[in-house]
Amino acid sequence: IDITNSPPTGKGMFVVIGGGIAGVSCAEALLAHSPDANVCLVSPTPIIKAARNVNELTRNLVTFDVTEIPVTEYESKHPNVKVHKCSAVRIDTEDKLIFMSSGETISYDKVCVCTGARQNVIFPENNCVVGIRDTATAMELDKMLKSSERVVVVGNGGIATELVFQIKNCEVIWAIKDKSISNVFFDGGAGQFFLPFLQRKQDLLKNFETEIPSKRMIYKVSDFNTTESKTLGGALGPDWHQSLSLTGTNDDICGVNVEYECEVQDLHVRSDNCCNLHETKKPSGEYWPLHVKLTNAVSHACDFVISATGVVPNVQLFTDLSCTFGLDSGIEIDENMRVVGLYDVYAAGDVCSTAKWPESPHWHQMRLWTQARQMGLFAAQCMAGHSTMKEDIPLDICFELFAHVTSFFGKKVVLLGNYNAQKNNDNKNSLEFLLRVEMNEEYVKVVLFNGRVIGCVLIGETDLEETFENLILNQTDVSALGENLLDPNVDIADYFD
Ligand code: FAD
Repeated sequence: IDITNSPPTGKGMFVVIGGGIAGVSCAEALLAHSPDANVCLVSPTPIIKAARNVNELTRNLVTFDVTEIPVTEYESKHPNVKVHKCSAVRIDTEDKLIFMSSGETISYDKVCVCTGARQNVIFPENNCVVGIRDTATAMELDKMLKSSERVVVVGNGGIATELVFQIKNCEVIWAIKDKSISNVFFDGGAGQFFLPFLQRKQDLLKNFETEIPSKRMIYKVSDFNTTESKTLGGALGPDWHQSLSLTGTNDDICGVNVEYECEVQDLHVRSDNCCNLHETKKPSGEYWPLHVKLTNAVSHACDFVISATGVVPNVQLFTDLSCTFGLDSGIEIDENMRVVGLYDVYAAGDVCSTAKWPESPHWHQMRLWTQARQMGLFAAQCMAGHSTMKEDIPLDICFELFAHVTSFFGKKVVLLGNYNAQKNNDNKNSLEFLLRVEMNEEYVKVVLFNGRVIGCVLIGETDLEETFENLILNQTDVSALGENLLDPNVDIADYFD
């Protein structure tokens, strides 16, 4: 082992693996907690992603920009963070060494693994199927769309929802496993609320273009060169589509045709020397390059398939180590972000599974940038704390309540607590749902359990987030109010003051 080129090591040597939101948040917070520590960030990409302009909407709801920063610029602004521009290939937990793709070896006092997740692509060997995860794959998708007239989008999570809405001048077939759209975030009611938005999307998108541009930093995808694109970059985040055109060749078509309760059964790629008389042609006159057979017995001809079918935690560094994995294949961590079974090894972000973590009744894990940041920050607090004292650190209050703010179809969306009664499905008799819907404007759903609010979905400018956050956290009995809880004429914020 050649460790002669290694930076200063020994006590206070913190290594963070991964230059995404979790890793960079962790590295920065380590310096805040231990200003004199040596902090190393291991990241294979020339650009890292950092959370900037953090804005607290309520105690738990936070928005921030995901800013791409070239490593050289980052190092000059943060001289205390030494960035190793390579991948970590192995961790030796006995001798506390990290082996890197560059041949270097660095030793650590405590290491935090923030290697994210990779896309789970269906039919991965087929060139007519693309996944979307990082800046490089987003660019590839954009390029393929430029010569396309019809695509099949598979998946029903946030990425698929955003994609089907953003794709222009190209017909979209949206194949989903569920009975309603955007099932990862919404129930059937909210799915119904959004369906008309899909049909009006061309007009809505035009309106957005004329509105004030987003203040968020938009990914400078041009900064990625082709060599680097082979390396797994940090996952995309909010506004990822704004620097892409996502536009096909068919000016006349922009519709979305949803195929419910189905998956892709088979793909048939057309080859020039095997031409079937029954094959249909595109409006432009060419043969469709791909036929997609769905499990509902429907087939669609298209240019290519976009697989937005979730992610798989990037746990290669742990495969030879004596640690445990959750049902979602993430690495199991305890309530102080320590990898279960390993000493002085922590993990944060998409790579983790919180299966061994005593969850608050109103929090659950979702692989989102908000949670990547929160986990990175808390891991740093624990690493720094455990360096100087033996006691565990109390779980941060951000893990008390699931809180996510985003936008779908141009509408603000706030999700709080068990917004889909995720944790109370075994006690359906004690559950109650209150709804307030104004078509095209707002959709408010409140989930009550034994007369107490346990979660809510707020779509549109409802201004209710703070009130419901407090009601969930305080577990106030609201049964006396009944349906008046959502009466727009009742000022519930004032009522509970
Ligand atoms: P990542 O951002 O994936 O970072 C992992 C880092 O580890 C990368 O820099 C990678 O290069 C590095 N790495 C991997 N292996 C190694 C190794 N062996 N050695 C060194 N470095 C390594 N979330 C939201 O909340 N809102 C959204 O609107 C949203 N939209 C999304 C849209 C898309 C298209 C995608 C793909 C994701 C979206 N997400 C969204 C999810 C969000 O981006 C992720 O949850 C979040 O970025 C995870 O952060 P992370 O730091 O854990 O992982």
